[in-house]
Amino acid sequence: MANRLLQAGSTIVVATKNAGKAGEFAHALGKLGLATTTLLDYPEIPDIVEDGDTFAANARLKAKATGDALGVPALADDSGLRVAALDGAPGVYSARYSGEGATDERNNAKLVAELNSLATLDALGELADGSVLLSRAEFVCALALYDPATGQFIEAEGTVEGMVTDKPHGSGGFGYDPYFWLPQLQRGMAELTKEEKQQISHRGAALAKLLPLLGETNA
Ligand code: IMP
Repeated sequence: MANRLLQAGSTIVVATKNAGKAGEFAHALGKLGLATTTLLDYPEIPDIVEDGDTFAANARLKAKATGDALGVPALADDSGLRVAALDGAPGVYSARYSGEGATDERNNAKLVAELNSLATLDALGELADGSVLLSRAEFVCALALYDPATGQFIEAEGTVEGMVTDKPHGSGGFGYDPYFWLPQLQRGMAELTKEEKQQISHRGAALAKLLPLLGETNA
């Protein structure tokens, strides 16, 4: 690999405590010969306050705090779901949508309840199993790679469009995946393997944009 920030055989710190994200980065970067650690490996780093207005701002915040604390380059992901019928919510609040102590289950329950309570839902149709398509939506992922030696960031953003359903499909992935339907594949995000998800997801798209910026040639 051409760039010193991502040398084959080296370890990259991913600034997350989210096991779902960590698994996806381990898979994607592992294919490039990179090992990953996460903030779960560094409990001494205090929780990072994500008070940015945008995914990109929060990704920069997390990458910088982690890179500065450890003195090594750090990769951060800030991501979430933007739902058309909810004017882009939960957006940057996706992880804590259901409030204090939010879990994926509670976030998904709130999402479906909010959409079901709307008086005017677009008629988007039903799937063969009878589940209802509630709204158009997109996942967004902002990546920031920060080098504490230079203070510089390398950034990229990726999205994937789909629909929110009223019933779950599949048990893979994490977060809102079980309720995110991909019309282009006629499958749910949680029905995909890690490799399939990387090919189509917001995170995969952002990584595919970030790697060439590093001088990567065989991503
Ligand atoms: P963050 O860790 O503050 O970036 O929060 C990301 C949140 O967005 C997660 O907790 C999930 O709720 C949601 N999210 C981000 N990426 C995905 C994904 O790939 N699938 C499902 N949910 C996701």
